[in-house]
Amino acid sequence: MELVCIECPRGCLLSAEKTEGGVSVSGNFCPKGRAYAEAEITEPRRVLTSTIRAAGAMVPVRTDRPVKKSMIFALMKKIRAARLTHAVAIGDTIMENIDGEGANVVASASYGGEPCSI
Ligand code: SF4
Repeated sequence: MELVCIECPRGCLLSAEKTEGGVSVSGNFCPKGRAYAEAEITEPRRVLTSTIRAAGAMVPVRTDRPVKKSMIFALMKKIRAARLTHAVAIGDTIMENIDGEGANVVASASYGGEPCSI
C-alpha cells in the first residue's frame, strides 16, 4: 500500500505492507511516519466532522479525537438522531464517549440555543 504521510508538511511517500511479524514500512523520514502507516494499514482512524440539528440551525461538530473508520457510519447515525437544545460555545462537549472508546463530539462553532418564546 502506498501512502502519503500526513503527520507533517514534508509529506513522505510511504510504502507499507502487512508481514507475518507485523507491518513493514519504508519511505518514512521519521518514526511518526512508521506509526502513521502502521495505523493506516491495521486500524485507520479519522476525526469525524459533521453537523448536528438545532432549532433553526445546523451546528458544526467534530470528534475530539480520531475514531475508527469502520465506525464512522454508525457514529454518523447517532449524530443525525441527536438534537442540540441548549447554547454551546466552541469546544463544548455535546455527546460524550460516542464510540465507546472515549471520543466526544464537540462543537466547532458556537450556538445560541432555542429561541425564546414569550
Ligand atoms: S515520515 Fe516524518 S518527516 Fe515524513 S511526513 Fe511523516 S512525520 Fe513528516
